[in-house]
Formats: sequence, structure tokens, C-alpha cells
Amino acid sequence: MSRFWVDKVSSLRPYVPGEQPVGQAVVKLNTNEHALPPSGAVMSAISSLTGEALRRYPDPTSSSLRSVIALREDLTSQQVFVGNGSDEVLAHLWAAYLADRPVMSVDITYGFYPVWSQLYGSTLTQCPLRDDFSIDSEALMNADGALVLANPNAPTGLALTRSQIEALVAANRNRLVIIDEAYYGFGAETAAPLIDDYDNLIVTRSLSKSHSLAGMRVGYALASPALVDGLDRIKDSFNSYPLDAVAQAASAAAIQDVEWFARASKVVIDSRNSMTEGLLEMGFDVLPSQANFIFTRPSRGSGPGLFDALRERNILVRRWEHPRISDWLRISVGTPEQTQVLLVAVREILERLE
Ligand SMILES: *Cc1c(COP(=O)(O)O)cnc(C)c1O
Repeated sequence: MSRFWVDKVSSLRPYVPGEQPVGQAVVKLNTNEHALPPSGAVMSAISSLTGEALRRYPDPTSSSLRSVIALREDLTSQQVFVGNGSDEVLAHLWAAYLADRPVMSVDITYGFYPVWSQLYGSTLTQCPLRDDFSIDSEALMNADGALVLANPNAPTGLALTRSQIEALVAANRNRLVIIDEAYYGFGAETAAPLIDDYDNLIVTRSLSKSHSLAGMRVGYALASPALVDGLDRIKDSFNSYPLDAVAQAASAAAIQDVEWFARASKVVIDSRNSMTEGLLEMGFDVLPSQANFIFTRPSRGSGPGLFDALRERNILVRRWEHPRISDWLRISVGTPEQTQVLLVAVREILERLE
């Protein structure tokens, strides 16, 4: 607290990201980073950058990255916006389209939505998930204000189908529907093919999870040219160069390596399936995830107890104090080896409870 803070700074309730331990040997399953290293094509793109590319300012519009994304999605570059992580893309969406307006989301979802709502003065309504944590689409059909949903949802991992999303977008033609696809690539259907038909739909993606580039900070939005234009106006009023030259080159190479993407996603999905089966065998509740994490409740003991016992064994997972989910843990899907380490540890912890 400083006497120089403006009022707004004292009233903010900032997002608290998962812990990034420095220099400890831990099994890190707490922030949903990809289990595998990024594509070799990413590493070559980075090492072939010249000093000249760093001496000069980067392309302020990231035009070649936008066309690489457009080509993959069968859209035009005018339908693509890129930013410094999808968090920045979402923050710009809030500034351009949700500021001082009503916004609707669900009660258990990405913790940044309430933070941006507060920062930009939106009135956020959090529609409760059903008891099984599924989204009550009926209750969102006539949303009060713009609708923001993570699909798959976080931290539940449950996804709506494309036709369920289309029903929501079609029922809310005069309201924006923002679908946060941060966990694209791990099994859920994407809403991107609807972009051409619905000018009230925005899909956001991140390269952090799908392409193992959390350290690079690249995200994007797919939307109508007019919506992208609004985002560009915010971006150019904030930071002309949100993506540095390294990030532009690396992320274009990542998106072009479709073979890596298919193979790496499959490793994660297989590892997720073994983690799910192992925990189900121990009697845990495990939601059917379409993301690179699972959401689970222990069969014996408590969520906080298991969290602490894992931590003592240097295995980091994530949990929240929210009353509906205080006994649940979110565990990122690691390599097949890490999944085995986790399952062995959980089994030992349960045995000690007997
Ligand atoms: C991780 C995550 C993001 C942010 O991703 P970045 O591109 O790393 O900023 C956005 N939304 C959800 C639901 C996430 O889980």
C-alpha cells in the first residue's frame, strides 16, 4: 500500500496464478502446462532468428502469424486477433466489449473472469453449474448481457458440444458469446467453424496448453472482422508490440507443425485416460475431462488432506477454497511417467489413512 495509489488500485482483487517453484525438484501438476516439450520446429525457428530481427521492432500487427492461424482455421486474417497470451486477448475483449456492461458466466470457472469484470466495471452474474458440474445451457439461453464460457470449462474439464454452443449463440444473436478455448486440442469440439455464420461469436485460444508454449505468451481470438477491428483499436491504445519477434516466429512454427500437435495431444489424452482409470480404481470421483487436467474428489480423507500429503511428496496440484469444490483437486496431466508417480503416491497416502 502506497499513498500514491489511485483508489482503484486498493480495491482490486487480482488473480492469483498457481505456484511456479524455483529450483526445486517437484512433480509439477498444478498449472496445466503441456506434458511434453514444444515442437522441434519451434526451437529451430527461434535459433534461426537473426540479430537484425531483434534490433528492429517486431511487426506490430503480427501479420504472418495471423495468416498462419487464418489458414489453419479456414478463415481470413481479418478474422484473427493475436495477443500476449490469451489472458491479454481476453482482457482486451473485456475493455472493448464488456466494460461497464452486464456479463454472464458460471459460478465455477476460470478465476480471471471476475477479476476483469471488476477491473473494467462489468456486472458479472455467475449462473450456477448443475450438481454434476455440467453447464445449464437452458439457463443461459437468454443471457443477461454478454456470455463468457470456457469450453472445456476449467477446472471441471467438462465440455459443451459444438451444437450446444451453436444453440447458445443462435439464442443470443444480439449479445456477444465468448468461448474461451484455452484447452483446445485435448478432445473437445471447437466452435471456430461457426465464426463465418455468427457475428456475435468470439472464440479465444492459447498456445500455452495446446502447443506447450506457456513460457512464450501467445494467444488469439477468432471473430468477425468488425470485432477484430475493435480489439485492434484497444491493442493500439495499449501496446503496439504485444508479441515480440521471438514469439511471432515460434508460434507460427508451432501452429504449422500439425504433425507434432496431433502426436503430442494424443500422448496427453492417453496419459489422462490412465490417470482417470487409476483414480477411478481407487474409488475417486473423476469428471470426464476433455482438457489436459482432471478434476477429482478423493474416496477417503479430504481434498485438503490429499493436497497437503502430495505436497509433502513434492507433487504439486491445485485446489480452491470455493465451497462447492473445496474437496476437489485439479491435477494437470503430466507425462505417462508422472502419472504413474502420482498414482503410486495417492495409493500410499490412502493406505496410510487406514
Ligand atoms: C490458461 C488459461 C487461459 C490463459 O492462457 P494464456 O494464453 O497462458 O494467457 C485462459 N483461459 C483459461 C480457461 C485458461 O485455463
